[in-house]
Amino acid sequence: MRYEDNRGFAAAQDRADPLAEYREQFNFPLERNGRAPIYLCGNSLGLQPKLAVQYVEEELRNWKNYAVDGHFHSDRPWISYHRQCVAEFAALTGAKHSEVVAMNTLTVNLHLLMASFYRPTQERYKIVIESQAFPSDRYAAASQIRMHGFDADEGLLEWSPRDGDTRLYTEDLAAMLAEHGNSIALLLLPGVQYYTGQVIDMGKVCELGRTHGCKVGLDLAHGIGNVDLELHDWAPDFAAWCTYKYLNAGPGAIAGAFVPERNSSPENLDQLHGWWGHDEATRFKMAKSFTPAAGAELWQMSNPPILSLAPVVASLKVFEEAGLAAIRKKSKKLTGFLDWLVTARFGDQIGTITPADARGCQLSLVVKDKNINAKGLFDKLCELNVTPDWREPDVIRVAPAPLYNSFDDVFEFVERLTLALSELSH
Ligand SMILES: *Cc1c(COP(=O)(O)O)cnc(C)c1O
Repeated sequence: MRYEDNRGFAAAQDRADPLAEYREQFNFPLERNGRAPIYLCGNSLGLQPKLAVQYVEEELRNWKNYAVDGHFHSDRPWISYHRQCVAEFAALTGAKHSEVVAMNTLTVNLHLLMASFYRPTQERYKIVIESQAFPSDRYAAASQIRMHGFDADEGLLEWSPRDGDTRLYTEDLAAMLAEHGNSIALLLLPGVQYYTGQVIDMGKVCELGRTHGCKVGLDLAHGIGNVDLELHDWAPDFAAWCTYKYLNAGPGAIAGAFVPERNSSPENLDQLHGWWGHDEATRFKMAKSFTPAAGAELWQMSNPPILSLAPVVASLKVFEEAGLAAIRKKSKKLTGFLDWLVTARFGDQIGTITPADARGCQLSLVVKDKNINAKGLFDKLCELNVTPDWREPDVIRVAPAPLYNSFDDVFEFVERLTLALSELSH
């Protein structure tokens, strides 16, 4: 694709964009200092879909009007409310319907799934994470190791980028497994690295895990709604994701989990149980014995918080209508335009650590020119009502989200970046 550095080019792209109308379906943050917002932080918290407001209001009304009867007698009965997420979770992750479930929050799901799939022995007890793992994943893995009576410092192995590089190479993971594979119980790895934006070769990671007899768990916080996923075919032992980043379901919204068919047979009762994991048909007989639900629902524990699930259902409707293929197609152009513009204007001063051949929406920018204070630049951008995000020590992450960001947003971002740089040097 050929790009041009002018607003007319961006406007022409927006006119030709089949997803352009979706922008209207979202609420944007307020103007500041007379400037419209340039929101590029959908990798951290996606914007509010107008439909989410409607769905939450409907459930508040159902609660008011029906009280306990809302469980069975409202438009979308609460008893099966979570099932409204199934079809689109399955579509977005490349899974079967029986393999996905909406429940809890991300780190909680990682723990519950590790309770089932991290079952260390004296010989095989280590967990591989990546060296720049999101802190919550690291804490979760280390605490699991400790809970099983092992030493976390020794039990945690790190897959690291090479010296002077930020990219993760699957060859290096393969080498690590060739050397230590027999002592490794679990690979707990991201689909998309949150800091660099690198898309990991998830199929290859799963294959490596299988070859060496290790379980594989994928954290798809930055993957879902962003890049193509084929969980059923890749066949990790579990996966989990949050829904407030690219999925736009709101702060702390209910998360998702994947357990492949082969891991959820009713004879296998290695889960921590609660009544929502009991077969729904007989749940309310309140029996003393546990009858497992089929598929990933077996991992459910509690009746879900409907008010935190409503925006997930709403947001997934928007994804279902737009379709991930179209979203991904636009995303490649949009992030490509951003990368091209930044390089064309500031190639000497600003670079990116995000690999062009393995990325989703996000670009992680780094200031190369040591005369420019990176944090100062970030603060200037915020003053100009741009919302990127800052990651220590020197990364500015920007992620145009194809459902609501336009090519003009990208162009305007680069205009404000130009202004911020010129103000900094005065
Ligand atoms: C965003 C994110 C989390 C956040 O965890 P919560 O349990 O939702 O607070 C965890 N891990 C990764 C990799 C993330 O990107």
